[in-house]
Amino acid sequence: MRALGLDFERRTVREIDLAEPRRPGAGEVLLRIHEVGVCATDRELTHFRFGIPPEGESVLALGHEALAEIVEVGSGVEELSVGDWVVPSIRRPCSPACVSCREGRCDLCRTDGYTERGITRAHGYFTGFVTDPADALIRVPTTLLDFAVLAEPLSVVEKAIETALRAHPGEARSACVIGAGPVGLLTALAVQLRAIDVTVVSLEPEEHPRVSMLRQAGISYVRNTTPPPADLVFEASGAESAAIAAMDWLSPCGVMVLIGAPEVSVPVPCVRMVIHNLTVTGVVNASRMHFELALEDLARIRPNLLEKMILRRGFGDWRESLASAPPVPKVVHRITSP
Ligand SMILES: [Zn+2]
Ligand SMILES: [Zn+2]
Repeated sequence: MRALGLDFERRTVREIDLAEPRRPGAGEVLLRIHEVGVCATDRELTHFRFGIPPEGESVLALGHEALAEIVEVGSGVEELSVGDWVVPSIRRPCSPACVSCREGRCDLCRTDGYTERGITRAHGYFTGFVTDPADALIRVPTTLLDFAVLAEPLSVVEKAIETALRAHPGEARSACVIGAGPVGLLTALAVQLRAIDVTVVSLEPEEHPRVSMLRQAGISYVRNTTPPPADLVFEASGAESAAIAAMDWLSPCGVMVLIGAPEVSVPVPCVRMVIHNLTVTGVVNASRMHFELALEDLARIRPNLLEKMILRRGFGDWRESLASAPPVPKVVHRITSP
């Protein structure tokens, strides 16, 4: 079965041959993968700085942002049926399960023993068929099929927003999003839905398609200048300079959430953090609740904006997608046709 994978022996990306998935056992379903999104994580994986193949293998199938249809159901699966559309969550519990994994929050795993589809010790979805536990899947309403491939990146955004609102001691009224890539745009759109004033700060020129999209959504944009002080700052650029500068953009009691991960350590302004009651936190991955919030928000964001988020390509066009990020925020590969 054709898959797009990382070859850890030759340190290259290539189409690999994966064994057909096993028939679904108790509590499992067989998925036909319809679409897979590509993001900065996939591009970073191709540099082999992180990513681990499944135990005993030297290749890892990529793909962690998927939309799939259930084609076979194992015994004991009651909540999902053949023909249902789903998006998979990415992280699977550590073993023996830690307290977070036992409670269904493996996004908050207390160990490094978890696996992640397409990233860490488990093959991803850039292939035709996959067997998965039913409880790792979130059902998608058919009205959302055109955009549901955005549910995984949006689920991380939902976790970031939930974390920020929970950490803020009062009522947050303003937000700043750093970065106008797919995660930055999704963050701005989701924050706007919560009636919080949002400004995006990034480096794209005014005529860039992603900036036009923000303008169309009625979201303020500033290019490479200091934005107004904000109760919430979401760092979605991964840029070291932005992470340092953004500490100064927080209003008193402000919360900064790192979604992008700058590769270097940045200084912490301890005195300001204390006298202004600031919080800085990071998030990774998402729980079922965040996927469900993501699907709810996808139904609320204007379809003409979501259409502008996605550039669809065929299975074989992966070289272009992994080489660089296109101006359209999200590249999505059609894996199989319904
Ligand atoms: Zn991703
Ligand atoms: Zn765990």
